[in-house]
Amino acid sequence: MTAFDLPDLVHKIFDDQEVTPDARAILAQPDRQIAVSVPLRRDDGSLAVFPGWRCQFNTTLGPAKGGIRFHPGVTAEECTQLAFWMTIKCALMELPFGGGKGGAQVDPKDLSPLEVERLARGYIGAIADVIGPDRDIPAPDVNTDARVMGWMADEFAKITRRHEPACITGKPVCLGGSEGRTQATGRGALIVLDAWLEREGRKPEDVTVAVQGFGNAGAHFACLAHERGYRIVAVSDSQAAIHDPDGLTPSKLLDYKQKEKELSGALYADSSVKEGNGGEEIAQEDLLALDVDVLVLAAMEDAITEDNAGTVTAPLILEIANGPVTPEADAMLVKDGKVILPDVLANAGGVTVSYYEWVQGRTGERWGAATVTDRLTERMEAIAEACFDRAGDDDIPVREAAYAKAITRIADAISSRGDRSYFAG
Ligand code: GLU
Repeated sequence: MTAFDLPDLVHKIFDDQEVTPDARAILAQPDRQIAVSVPLRRDDGSLAVFPGWRCQFNTTLGPAKGGIRFHPGVTAEECTQLAFWMTIKCALMELPFGGGKGGAQVDPKDLSPLEVERLARGYIGAIADVIGPDRDIPAPDVNTDARVMGWMADEFAKITRRHEPACITGKPVCLGGSEGRTQATGRGALIVLDAWLEREGRKPEDVTVAVQGFGNAGAHFACLAHERGYRIVAVSDSQAAIHDPDGLTPSKLLDYKQKEKELSGALYADSSVKEGNGGEEIAQEDLLALDVDVLVLAAMEDAITEDNAGTVTAPLILEIANGPVTPEADAMLVKDGKVILPDVLANAGGVTVSYYEWVQGRTGERWGAATVTDRLTERMEAIAEACFDRAGDDDIPVREAAYAKAITRIADAISSRGDRSYFAG
């Protein structure tokens, strides 16, 4: 098993909350990690084999839940770390799930669409023994979208010879996906941001925002936030960053990227926001240092480290990516008086609507877009408010408040399943 070190924050919460020794021992390591080889028949007939993993970090509260990413940086350690964050996120959102994550170490941008389809099917073939609606439910993550989930669900149905719509979430709506799932991560982040700013008595019109990352989550967040009245003054993608102090129109940038993608027939856009006809190009690193009210981190892990934390001037940081701020950078920013709305809360809209999709898949019900949005809004507002209250009452950062709530929930469930106190005496 790959070694995993719980963050110092979790050890602090274990002590502060007097978490039982059994819960500490169980949460210290993942329940299960599997390493697989993912075969891919290339278009030229040759065979490539990529390493892949699936980690089910903890399943006390229910089946493991979490995405699958295709990225050259995927490793066993990264899957374990991401599965741990999913465990905290699902517990915080009061979902009946534990946490999981998986992926293959591959750059899908080097593959043709048909090769990506074969890779997706190969990956599901490799992990089919450990997933299913009551065991572990995959979903989209970096470089995997509804289309990829559709292929994966189809492959799983072929392997099991059963129609199992609840085996994978984030599917196309016509294949049993949920309305609102594609926008859910961005929408959830906006609900959390609105709730925080409302407490401060601030109106969207008076708030400037810079967004690092224009993938599914970042782009939908930017479009929805712009619709709501926020001024989006800068956005970046993996190729460039653009800035306009008067405000950009993110929906135009998204339309441009989508059209370019359709025209090229590629699965991944290789066009950039810089060609989308808005704003002046700036260095990507400079976006992080812009004098804005809110800095949104929607790209990848480790965007803010000890090296660049000192350049951040925005007083409020919204984490839409998983783990975009390292623990060392987090400590520096908090010391500097900055507020961070943490990933496990701010990006939990995606997995929450995945849960709604799983419920619909199991019951055969179909919910309309308005029902999904209403349920997401109600749940996210309530949980965000509870985290903000706890942070205020205990004078702790919002991240610590969110982790404390999640860990208490998991630890209580571990104890309720039976712990050493039953054997005392
Ligand atoms: N990959 C997303 C996340 O990190 C969604 C997971 C899911 O829907 O299960 O939260």
